[in-house]
Amino acid sequence: MCSNSLRTFFNHQRTLLHPVIERVWKEEQRMLLDEIRFTEEPLILGGDGRADTPGHNAKFGSYTLMELSTSKVVHVELVQSNEVKNSNAMEKEGLTRSVHFLREEEMHIPTIVTDRHLQIQKWIREEMPDTVHHYDVWHVAKGLRKKMEALVKEKDCSIVGRWIRSICNHLYWAAASTPDGNGDVIRDKWLSVVNHIQNTHYGHGKHFPSCLHPDLGQDD
Ligand SMILES: [Zn+2]
Repeated sequence: MCSNSLRTFFNHQRTLLHPVIERVWKEEQRMLLDEIRFTEEPLILGGDGRADTPGHNAKFGSYTLMELSTSKVVHVELVQSNEVKNSNAMEKEGLTRSVHFLREEEMHIPTIVTDRHLQIQKWIREEMPDTVHHYDVWHVAKGLRKKMEALVKEKDCSIVGRWIRSICNHLYWAAASTPDGNGDVIRDKWLSVVNHIQNTHYGHGKHFPSCLHPDLGQDD
Protein backbone atom coordinates (compact mmCIF):
# COMPACT_ATOMS: atom_id res chain seq x y z
CA MET A 1 0.00 0.00 0.00
CA CYS A 2 1.20 3.50 -0.78
CA SER A 3 2.12 5.70 2.10
CA ASN A 4 3.97 8.89 2.91
CA SER A 5 7.68 8.84 2.52
CA LEU A 6 9.65 8.39 5.71
CA ARG A 7 10.76 11.99 5.44
CA THR A 8 7.18 13.26 5.26
CA PHE A 9 6.21 11.04 8.16
CA PHE A 10 8.93 12.45 10.41
CA ASN A 11 8.13 15.92 9.17
CA HIS A 12 4.50 15.55 10.22
CA GLN A 13 5.57 14.05 13.50
CA ARG A 14 7.86 16.98 14.26
CA THR A 15 5.64 19.82 13.08
CA LEU A 16 2.18 18.50 14.00
CA LEU A 17 2.09 15.54 16.34
CA HIS A 18 4.77 16.43 18.90
CA PRO A 19 3.62 20.04 19.40
CA VAL A 20 0.05 18.84 19.97
CA ILE A 21 1.13 16.25 22.53
CA GLU A 22 3.23 18.84 24.31
CA ARG A 23 0.42 21.39 24.34
CA VAL A 24 -2.16 18.93 25.65
CA TRP A 25 0.21 17.76 28.40
CA LYS A 26 1.04 21.33 29.46
CA GLU A 27 -2.66 22.25 29.60
CA GLU A 28 -3.41 19.11 31.63
CA GLN A 29 -0.55 19.83 33.99
CA ARG A 30 -1.66 23.44 34.44
CA MET A 31 -5.20 22.32 35.31
CA LEU A 32 -3.89 19.72 37.74
CA LEU A 33 -1.62 22.21 39.53
CA ASP A 34 -4.48 24.70 39.77
CA GLU A 35 -6.70 21.99 41.20
CA ILE A 36 -4.10 21.07 43.84
CA ARG A 37 -3.68 24.74 44.80
CA PHE A 38 -7.45 25.14 44.98
CA THR A 39 -8.14 22.14 47.24
CA GLU A 40 -5.31 23.15 49.63
CA GLU A 41 -4.86 19.50 50.59
CA PRO A 42 -1.27 18.84 51.74
CA LEU A 43 0.63 17.47 48.76
CA ILE A 44 1.92 13.88 49.07
CA LEU A 45 4.22 13.07 46.18
CA GLY A 46 5.74 9.79 45.09
CA GLY A 47 8.85 10.02 42.90
CA ASP A 48 10.79 7.45 40.93
CA GLY A 49 13.10 7.33 37.98
CA ARG A 50 13.22 4.93 35.09
CA ALA A 51 15.80 4.43 32.38
CA ASP A 52 15.44 3.48 28.73
CA THR A 53 17.56 0.37 29.20
CA PRO A 54 17.93 -1.68 32.35
CA GLY A 55 21.36 -1.61 33.97
CA HIS A 56 23.71 1.30 34.26
CA ASN A 57 24.27 2.53 30.73
CA ALA A 58 21.00 4.17 29.84
CA LYS A 59 20.98 7.11 27.46
CA PHE A 60 17.79 8.68 28.78
CA GLY A 61 16.20 8.67 32.19
CA SER A 62 12.81 10.02 33.09
CA TYR A 63 11.76 11.10 36.54
CA THR A 64 8.09 11.10 37.44
CA LEU A 65 6.33 12.73 40.37
CA MET A 66 2.87 11.44 41.17
CA GLU A 67 0.28 12.88 43.54
CA LEU A 68 -0.47 9.84 45.66
CA SER A 69 -4.03 10.52 46.81
CA THR A 70 -5.32 10.74 43.22
CA SER A 71 -2.51 8.79 41.42
CA LYS A 72 -2.13 11.65 38.96
CA VAL A 73 1.27 12.48 37.47
CA VAL A 74 2.10 16.10 38.29
CA HIS A 75 5.47 16.34 36.57
CA VAL A 76 7.89 14.43 34.34
CA GLU A 77 11.52 15.33 33.65
CA LEU A 78 13.67 13.78 30.95
CA VAL A 79 17.43 13.68 31.54
CA GLN A 80 20.03 12.65 29.01
CA SER A 81 23.01 10.78 30.47
CA ASN A 82 25.58 13.17 28.95
CA GLU A 83 24.00 16.06 30.86
CA VAL A 84 25.21 14.54 34.13
CA LYS A 85 28.37 12.77 35.35
CA ASN A 86 27.05 9.26 34.77
CA SER A 87 23.78 7.50 34.15
CA ASN A 88 23.37 6.82 37.88
CA ALA A 89 23.18 10.54 38.55
CA MET A 90 20.19 10.89 36.22
CA GLU A 91 17.68 9.99 38.90
CA LYS A 92 18.88 12.70 41.27
CA GLU A 93 19.02 15.24 38.45
CA GLY A 94 15.46 14.36 37.45
CA LEU A 95 14.25 14.83 41.02
CA THR A 96 16.18 18.10 41.41
CA ARG A 97 14.66 19.58 38.27
CA SER A 98 11.18 18.40 39.19
CA VAL A 99 11.37 19.98 42.64
CA HIS A 100 12.70 23.23 41.17
CA PHE A 101 9.83 23.25 38.71
CA LEU A 102 7.26 22.82 41.50
CA ARG A 103 8.95 25.50 43.59
CA GLU A 104 8.71 27.90 40.66
CA GLU A 105 5.02 27.06 40.64
CA GLU A 106 4.93 27.91 44.35
CA MET A 107 3.86 24.41 45.29
CA HIS A 108 4.76 23.33 48.82
CA ILE A 109 5.73 19.66 49.25
CA PRO A 110 5.11 18.46 52.84
CA THR A 111 5.68 14.75 52.08
CA ILE A 112 7.66 12.82 49.48
CA VAL A 113 7.98 9.06 48.99
CA THR A 114 10.92 7.62 47.04
CA ASP A 115 13.21 4.59 46.91
CA ARG A 116 16.29 4.44 49.16
CA HIS A 117 18.79 5.64 46.54
CA LEU A 118 21.62 7.19 48.64
CA GLN A 119 22.06 10.31 46.51
CA ILE A 120 18.33 10.95 46.70
CA GLN A 121 18.27 10.53 50.50
CA LYS A 122 21.10 13.01 50.90
CA TRP A 123 19.65 15.55 48.49
CA ILE A 124 16.20 15.55 50.11
CA ARG A 125 17.71 15.81 53.59
CA GLU A 126 19.83 18.82 52.61
CA GLU A 127 17.68 20.61 50.05
CA MET A 128 14.15 19.91 51.33
CA PRO A 129 14.42 20.45 55.09
CA ASP A 130 10.68 21.13 55.46
CA THR A 131 9.68 17.93 53.68
CA VAL A 132 9.09 14.58 55.39
CA HIS A 133 10.80 11.81 53.42
CA HIS A 134 9.30 8.31 53.42
CA TYR A 135 10.61 5.22 51.65
CA ASP A 136 8.43 3.40 49.21
CA VAL A 137 7.43 0.02 50.68
CA TRP A 138 7.50 -1.49 47.17
CA HIS A 139 11.26 -0.90 46.94
CA VAL A 140 11.82 -2.16 50.50
CA ALA A 141 9.83 -5.33 49.70
CA LYS A 142 11.79 -5.83 46.48
CA GLY A 143 15.09 -5.76 48.42
CA LEU A 144 13.70 -8.14 51.03
CA ARG A 145 12.43 -10.54 48.37
CA LYS A 146 15.88 -10.70 46.76
CA LYS A 147 17.50 -11.57 50.09
CA MET A 148 14.97 -14.33 50.75
CA GLU A 149 15.41 -15.72 47.24
CA ALA A 150 19.16 -15.93 47.90
CA LEU A 151 18.47 -17.65 51.22
CA VAL A 152 16.35 -20.34 49.52
CA LYS A 153 19.49 -21.55 47.74
CA GLU A 154 21.37 -22.14 51.00
CA LYS A 155 21.55 -25.63 52.47
CA ASP A 156 18.34 -26.70 54.30
CA CYS A 157 16.64 -23.36 53.61
CA SER A 158 14.39 -24.26 50.70
CA ILE A 159 11.30 -24.02 52.93
CA VAL A 160 11.83 -20.24 53.01
CA GLY A 161 10.59 -20.23 49.43
CA ARG A 162 7.08 -21.07 50.58
CA TRP A 163 7.06 -18.05 52.90
CA ILE A 164 8.39 -15.36 50.55
CA ARG A 165 5.02 -14.22 49.27
CA SER A 166 3.38 -14.09 52.70
CA ILE A 167 6.32 -12.30 54.31
CA CYS A 168 6.31 -9.63 51.59
CA ASN A 169 2.54 -9.24 51.97
CA HIS A 170 3.05 -8.88 55.69
CA LEU A 171 5.56 -6.05 55.10
CA TYR A 172 3.01 -4.18 52.97
CA TRP A 173 0.33 -4.86 55.55
CA ALA A 174 2.47 -3.52 58.44
CA ALA A 175 2.71 -0.19 56.60
CA ALA A 176 -0.76 -0.03 55.05
CA SER A 177 -2.64 -0.98 58.23
CA THR A 178 -0.99 1.88 60.15
CA PRO A 179 -2.35 4.99 58.42
CA ASP A 180 -1.03 7.36 61.10
CA GLY A 181 2.49 6.16 60.23
CA ASN A 182 3.42 5.36 63.84
CA GLY A 183 6.91 3.90 63.42
CA ASP A 184 6.90 1.89 66.68
CA VAL A 185 3.67 0.14 65.70
CA ILE A 186 4.85 -0.54 62.13
CA ARG A 187 8.13 -1.98 63.43
CA ASP A 188 6.47 -4.27 65.97
CA LYS A 189 3.89 -5.44 63.42
CA TRP A 190 6.71 -6.21 61.01
CA LEU A 191 8.85 -8.04 63.59
CA SER A 192 5.91 -10.18 64.73
CA VAL A 193 6.38 -12.23 61.57
CA VAL A 194 9.38 -13.94 63.19
CA ASN A 195 7.09 -15.38 65.89
CA HIS A 196 4.22 -15.99 63.50
CA ILE A 197 6.20 -18.25 61.18
CA GLN A 198 7.10 -20.35 64.22
CA ASN A 199 3.41 -20.72 65.07
CA THR A 200 3.57 -18.30 68.00
CA HIS A 201 0.88 -15.66 67.70
CA TYR A 202 1.19 -13.63 70.91
CA GLY A 203 3.96 -12.15 73.05
CA HIS A 204 5.28 -9.96 70.22
CA GLY A 205 6.52 -6.39 70.72
CA LYS A 206 4.97 -3.86 73.11
CA HIS A 207 3.14 -1.97 70.32
CA PHE A 208 1.75 -5.07 68.63
CA PRO A 209 1.48 -7.80 71.26
CA SER A 210 -0.50 -10.42 69.34
CA CYS A 211 -1.54 -11.37 65.82
CA LEU A 212 -4.92 -10.12 64.60
CA HIS A 213 -5.84 -13.22 62.61
CA PRO A 214 -8.32 -15.75 64.07
CA ASP A 215 -7.17 -19.00 65.64
CA LEU A 216 -5.35 -21.00 62.98
CA GLY A 217 -6.29 -24.38 64.52
CA GLN A 218 -3.99 -27.35 64.83
CA ASP A 219 -1.28 -28.21 62.34
CA ASP A 220 -1.92 -31.37 60.38
ZN1 LIG B 1 0.16 -15.10 63.77
